Amino acid sequence: QPPVLEVKGLTTQFSARKKAVTVVDQVDFSVQKGETLGIVGESGCGKSVTSLSIMRLLGKNGKVVAGSVLFEGKDILELEEKEMRTIRGNRLAMIFQEPMTSLNPVLTIGRQIGEVLKLHTSLGQEERKRRVIELIAQVGIPRAQEIYGEYPHRLSGGMRQRVMIAMAMACRPQLLIADEPTTALDVTIQAQMLGLIREMRKETGMSVMLITHDLGVIAEMCDRVLVMYAGQVIESADVRTLLRHPKHPYTKGLIRSVPHHSRGEKRLYAISGNVPSPGEWPTGCRFAARCTEAMPICHEESPALSTLQDGSFCRCWLHDDLVLAEGRSIP
Ligand code: SF4
Ligand code: MG
Repeated sequence: QPPVLEVKGLTTQFSARKKAVTVVDQVDFSVQKGETLGIVGESGCGKSVTSLSIMRLLGKNGKVVAGSVLFEGKDILELEEKEMRTIRGNRLAMIFQEPMTSLNPVLTIGRQIGEVLKLHTSLGQEERKRRVIELIAQVGIPRAQEIYGEYPHRLSGGMRQRVMIAMAMACRPQLLIADEPTTALDVTIQAQMLGLIREMRKETGMSVMLITHDLGVIAEMCDRVLVMYAGQVIESADVRTLLRHPKHPYTKGLIRSVPHHSRGEKRLYAISGNVPSPGEWPTGCRFAARCTEAMPICHEESPALSTLQDGSFCRCWLHDDLVLAEGRSIP
């Protein structure tokens, strides 16, 4: 079966003070049908810009300058905005970190979810209302009938995030992109929210692209993981392999810095230094300044994304097994 999403050579730039700066640099990956792909990395590594590039929601300063994004076999970067609008929120939906900024404060919950159905379906007003109430109940919001007429500010953060999920699920998307969907929520609500996304996935067979900086979330939710650093994919593997046998020193550092709450540990380890800013990426390996295993070559030449024996991909001179040549495969 062809993948639901296939991203090839995606390169996105932002312009600031007349200078174009690359933020996402030749990113390749795919999402299979029914799969949950995690994208992990510190903030500033290009995760969110990758998802906004796919949704074509970059805003006026951002621009995809190279690459393709095949969604259900069609390059959505080539579509007219009008055509894109028939896909966005319909076959391809997204939930963001901060629901308050994406919900309209002056429209009732029912109206906002209803708008999605109005835009993408031919349901009549009564049917829409019925379906919206059903959706509100489905995402675990109590008293769906009453909530239908409420305004967003009357709901808690967790409830608003559920509304966002209801909106995203309204048209049963093929692919749900969730960008840090639980970061702003407390631990209990976070767990409920992840459970809800899992349930929806099981029920509808949709694919999920889950962006997070939290490896715990990755472990719990994902089939496969992509690690991003300074605008590039630096490692990808199935979740078990990645967590048990990480290859890239950056991935190893991320895993080491996860605190084991169950053992009563506080965070003991942090990778020293910071992610280099876009526009300040060094020649050679972009992680070199923070890498405890750096060698002379690392500061001079960029490692390529190689395929390893176990099928994972890694961009590091220590694991330069099989450099992908032409007709390269996509992680
Ligand atoms: Fe470290 Fe070199 Fe590998 Fe970069 S290429 S992660 S600097 S060992
Ligand atoms: Mg982000």
